[in-house]
Amino acid sequence: MIENLDSIDFSKSADGLIPAVIQDNATLQVLMLGYMNKESLQETLTTKKVTFYSRSKERLWVKGETSENYLLLDDIFIDCDNDTILVMATPCGPTCHTGSVSCFNSQKTPGLSYLGLLDKVIQERIKNPSENSYTHKLISRGLNKVAQKVGEEAVEVVIAALAESREEYLGEMTDLLYHSLILLHAQGLSLDDVAEVIAKRHQEKTDKKSSH
Ligand code: AMP
Ligand code: ZN
Ligand code: ZN
Ligand code: ZN
Repeated sequence: MIENLDSIDFSKSADGLIPAVIQDNATLQVLMLGYMNKESLQETLTTKKVTFYSRSKERLWVKGETSENYLLLDDIFIDCDNDTILVMATPCGPTCHTGSVSCFNSQKTPGLSYLGLLDKVIQERIKNPSENSYTHKLISRGLNKVAQKVGEEAVEVVIAALAESREEYLGEMTDLLYHSLILLHAQGLSLDDVAEVIAKRHQEKTDKKSSH
């Protein structure tokens, strides 16, 4: 999170506005681009609701003020030359006024991103356990039970892959990924730790390629 608004250079543009790229904190999907002046950034930090300066409305604009599709602030980063910010936020609904999740209709299903969302939801269920949470119930039954469940889902995936419909297969694969994430969290790990290993392996591979 930025500590000091003075480190941001609002004077680079004549109107005192800087671009703010909004990214979903869980899926990492880019949601929209807006403009902020110092006051709107201050409002964003104090209210925790992303607030822009609207050039068409010519006033501060709390995103979601009429639609209630607020963007709840998670984190802010400044770019290399202090004139653009990256705002990580959790959307309360579709960010685009057309009803799309993102203003950029890139048509790509952010596959891994939703695995990241699930990873965060599981973490949240562990931190704030609610009575009717299946995730919480399973974890409270102990590591053995979670591990056993992953084994069962893996067998179901194998059977579905070889002998069932595409729909059933996808459903079982989803079950397996979900339970695998719970198993990671049951031992204090997360998808980020797996991603680190994937990145390291990828790096080793490209290192090997470029060495001859
Ligand atoms: P909202 O802030 O979601 O309550 O929307 C208020 C108004 O802002 C809408 O009527 C739109 O004209 C405009 N608006 C909402 N979302 C966006 C967006 N993502 N990009 C540009 N304009 C928007
Ligand atoms: Zn810059
Ligand atoms: Zn839009
Ligand atoms: Zn299953």
